[in-house]
Parts: sequence; C-alpha cells; structure tokens
Amino acid sequence: MIYRFMLTQHIGHPAVPCVKAGQTVLRGQRLAVKPNGKLGAHIHSSVKGEVCAVEDLFVEVEADEKRCETGFFGADFDRAGIGVLTSSFRWEGSGESDYVPIKGNSVLELIEEAGIVGAGGAGFPTAAKLSRPLGPGGLLILNAAECEPALRHNTALLELEPERALCGMRHAMAAVKAAEGVIAIKEKRARAVAALRGALASSSDISIRFLPDIYPSGEERAVVREVRGMLLGPDQLPWEAGCVVLNTETAARIADAVEKRKPVISKDMTLAGQYRAKVFSDRGSAALFDAPLGIAVGSIIERAGGLSADCGELIAGGPFTGKPAREDSPVTKLTGGLLAAMPFLCAREKLGLLACACGAGQERLMDIAAKMGGETAGLEHCKQSLPARGARKCENPGKCPGQAEKVLSLYRQGARALLIGSCGDCTNTVMTVADRLSMSVYHSTDGVLRTAGEGLIRWRKS
Ligand code: SF4
Repeated sequence: MIYRFMLTQHIGHPAVPCVKAGQTVLRGQRLAVKPNGKLGAHIHSSVKGEVCAVEDLFVEVEADEKRCETGFFGADFDRAGIGVLTSSFRWEGSGESDYVPIKGNSVLELIEEAGIVGAGGAGFPTAAKLSRPLGPGGLLILNAAECEPALRHNTALLELEPERALCGMRHAMAAVKAAEGVIAIKEKRARAVAALRGALASSSDISIRFLPDIYPSGEERAVVREVRGMLLGPDQLPWEAGCVVLNTETAARIADAVEKRKPVISKDMTLAGQYRAKVFSDRGSAALFDAPLGIAVGSIIERAGGLSADCGELIAGGPFTGKPAREDSPVTKLTGGLLAAMPFLCAREKLGLLACACGAGQERLMDIAAKMGGETAGLEHCKQSLPARGARKCENPGKCPGQAEKVLSLYRQGARALLIGSCGDCTNTVMTVADRLSMSVYHSTDGVLRTAGEGLIRWRKS
C-alpha cells in the first residue's frame, strides 16, 4: 500500500524532502524537514517501506508492513466502547514502539523534532507557539471545547487518557512559564470532566472551566473571552491576553514526544455518517485514534465497512469548517474527521448565501449551492466577519450582531431561500427573520448532521 505524505500539513513553509526515491525508510524516520529558520514542521513516515516518489507537494512511501493492511476494529473497541460516552477504536499496531525515536535536549527541541502542529485544524507549529514565555500570571488553556458538532475524538481522549493530556499540558506550561493551567470544556462532557477531576485530585496547578454549549466556543479568541473575560481583536493573538491556547490532541502529542520520544506519525479523528459498520447505525459516530499519516481516506472507509448508501459528500474535518475530500486524499496532521454525508437536497428557490467567518465562507457556500443545483441570487457576509491577515475573522465569535439587514438585502436581491454557514446564535436570528419572509433556510452542516443523527444547528439553546 502506498502512503502519501503532504509537505504542507501546517501553517508556514512546506517541509523540504530529505529522502530519495528507492531509499528504504523506517517508521518514524524523517521524510522532510522544516526549512532552517522558517516557520514550518518536519514530516515523518508512519510506515516502514521504500520511498517511491518525491514530488513538489508530497513524498510517497510503499509500505512493506502487512499489519497496516488489516482491519482496525479490534479488541480496543470492546474495551473502550464499554462504559465510555464515545465509541472508540485504536488503529491496530499504532501503540507499538518500533519507531525511530526523536532526539532533543529540551521540551521545545523535542516538540520541534516531533513535528507537532496544532491538531485542532489550524496547524500552527507548536514549538513556535510555545517559544515565547508568558509574563507574570501567564495562563495555559487546554482547549477541550470540541465545539464542531459530531466530532468526539478529543473528548474521547480525555475520557480514556486524561493523564496523557495533562502530562503534555504541564510540559507546555513549563515551556512558556505559565503560572497556571485551565482546561476549557463544556459541562455536558460529563465523563471527560469526571476523568479529569479524578486525574487532578491532588493537583492545584490546573483547574477546569466550563464553556457555553455553542458553536464556536472552541474558537481561540472565544476560549480566551470565556476564560479571561477579555475580547481580543480579530488580528490579536492569545499571547496579548497573557495566554497560550492548546488543543487536547496537541497536548497528548507533546506528552508522546517528551515521554516516549515519539514523532507525529498518526492522527486522531472522528468518523460519522453513512458507514456500514454497526457502531455507526447504533451510535452515529466513533472516535478513531492514531490513524497513520499518509494513508488514503478510502482505506479508512474500507475498514469502517464501506459506505452504506450513496454519499453526497465526504468531508475531512468538522461539519462547520471541514473541506470536501476524495477517497484518494491522504490523512494529514489536520484531518480531524471523516464525515460521510447523505446526498444534497435540491434547492428549488433562488438562494441567498450568508457566509460566516467561523463556519462556511463564500467559497464553501458557493460549492454547496452548486451541488444543490440552486441558482444563487446574492451573497452577504455576517457583519462581524472582517478581513484579517489574509482571511476573515469574526469580531466576537458566536455572539449574534443581528442578521435582519443581511437577510432583507438577500431577499431584495431575489433570494427566496437562504443557504447559511452561520454560528448557532446567528442561525437562530436568521430563522426568525426568514420565517417572517417565508424563506426556507438551509445550513451548510445539514447533510452531515442529518446523516450522523445529530440535531440540526437551528434553534439550539446557547
Ligand atoms: S457572529 Fe457572524 S461571523 Fe461570527 S461566528 Fe456568528 S455568523 Fe460567524
């Protein structure tokens, strides 16, 4: 089986290949390196095998491990699936210690050597994030919001291995000289909270803070707002509030790098939607730990029993921010979910598109509108969505500024239905206005959420 390792799996410069075609590589061996002095991350092989292609965008390795070609729904599921909230699987063989260990003399060196990047989807190189010490009163926040509906793997990690996340968190706290740590999590994650409380029983350096149950409570500035009581501007970083925010899986990868000298060679994710394996009809979704980097998405689908029905769209990531994927797309350090959605509904009316900076933006909404076969009457951005650093950022994530003006504008442009990517709070406002104008409302997340048996975004309580 061929594994494809993309050279850009992070923010910053692409990694530079350090292997040649025909070369034999070991599991954990570097395939590409971060360019000297620049922002980036090393890339390591998740399999033992032979390099079969070195291209501008990727390196490919033909694996000689039979083990990786067998199923992963094994004993771990039976163990992990009982008594925990989330059905969980661990990739067969992923726990073995037959990898090339990384070398380093400090926590920061080990994090850089391991190629750790933000596993929540942003992909910012973690060594760079932790390289600047915080001032007095500095706070390290573990972002355990997992606010994308349907995603479960970060919560499952805390249910099953709270000590691993806490260990990584403490190494990160030491690196940035944080006086204190806070775990930001939703109260409804009761089993994860109980596991954390058990693991923190005799500690006073880390506490738990509850986040509101809204999307996007896990947006970095939303987390800082809730924990610090300070609203950062769209182009400000948590550092300016004396904080560093770290995703749960990222913390676990730090623990692996420091304690086990293990590079990043796998990714945790959530599978949800139209998979044939029984767990999906029973429980809608499952966490998959340690899928090997570089493996084709189609191989994971195969191990989940294949797709049970026509799939409208395969999404890599969460329902709000994920991107369409193909079966030959490789798993990267940013693949947080593989969601197999039902076919698209047909739009019979002219659509008005309302884009969100934290959810579906212009490009994604236009893509969905085309897949729904709908004619587009116009496009508006939420008024809190502002250009910042080459993208769009929300001024105050998840707090609706009012949507009547935008909906009325789309109505005047000829729209008789809306396709929106809005956060929960804004969606509820849109619904109220649209109802008065007799406009139907479609949400960018509908297909995935219906398929995964999750409640739709409309009328969620905040
Ligand atoms: S306020 Fe607007 S831009 Fe911000 S999260 Fe909600 S819909 Fe998106």
